[in-house]
Amino acid sequence: MTEVQRVLVIDDEKINLKIISDMLSDDVIVMLAKSGEQGVRKAIEYQPDLILLDVMMPEMDGFETMSRLRHDVRTSAIPVIFITALNDSSNEEKALLMGANDYIQKPLHTNIVLARVRLHLQLVKQRKMLEKLANIDPLTSLANRRKYQEVIQQEWQNAIENQSCISLLVIDIDNFKQYNDCYGHATGDKVLQQVASVLANQVLDQGLVARYGGEEFVILLPDHSKEESLDVAKRCMQGVEALNLAYSHEDFNGRVTVSVGGTTQLPSENCHSEDFFNAADDMLGLAKKSGKNKILWSLPSNLNEVVE
Ligand code: GH3
Ligand code: MG
Ligand code: MG
Repeated sequence: MTEVQRVLVIDDEKINLKIISDMLSDDVIVMLAKSGEQGVRKAIEYQPDLILLDVMMPEMDGFETMSRLRHDVRTSAIPVIFITALNDSSNEEKALLMGANDYIQKPLHTNIVLARVRLHLQLVKQRKMLEKLANIDPLTSLANRRKYQEVIQQEWQNAIENQSCISLLVIDIDNFKQYNDCYGHATGDKVLQQVASVLANQVLDQGLVARYGGEEFVILLPDHSKEESLDVAKRCMQGVEALNLAYSHEDFNGRVTVSVGGTTQLPSENCHSEDFFNAADDMLGLAKKSGKNKILWSLPSNLNEVVE
């Protein structure tokens, strides 16, 4: 199903809001704001796909509104089309230099407004599609490593600001190289998809599950204590075992398993998210060295705990 796009129109004159709304309402969901102040508020709250902005408004004019939108990370990427009666190329230049995506002069002609709005909404769709493709692993449909890197920066900062715990699990399929050798790469791919699906189902909206690379996954759990995260780790391990994926060769008869390295930290300004990842990854390394198919958790005291 294609999502209906949303356009926010900011204009101090009711009649203009009505005219533009009538032009667009067959194509999109139209939201209205009758001042720059209200427009900025609605843009932050409703995250429209496109903003049509009147230049001449009392108190906060279009330029100031534009400046506010561009300086707020929550609205800086939303395209803005200026609409004005000003027949003055210096204003047009000023708007474009401020980052306006387009400029329409009054009187408004329905076909021109519609054509420009459709063009910019099409660009928004393409940009969102590209962003999605850039953040998703095509084999498993999980977030990819790039998305993880983006989310960890944000969540690490949130955890510092809120003084809250954050946990990370690094999960790796055991002896997967040999699995591919025994069963073939295509079957290996199916295992990756099934493991990914188990992890995603265990985490749901509690955090981010990403394919970090190869047969290694990460689960980022903001605002999760060690006990809560361990619980997730155990359920992931058990979920993979419950897939009951046969894995037998000459000297081994069993099923596909994973090893998990985990850490829970209360971050401060002087600790870095890379060290957070390394703490969990080191635990994964130890879990592998000490027999695999287990969870190892890093504790702040440097004493590590074998959990399962
Ligand atoms: P360990 O238990 O120590 O993790 O051993 P391992 O064999 O799982 O680890 P190793 O890093 O030696 O090998 C990882 C294997 O994962 C090698 C590679 O063929 C396989 N792999 C990585 N990406 C994919 C993929 O997309 N599809 C399939 N089928 N296999 C993959
Ligand atoms: Mg492995
Ligand atoms: Mg690996």
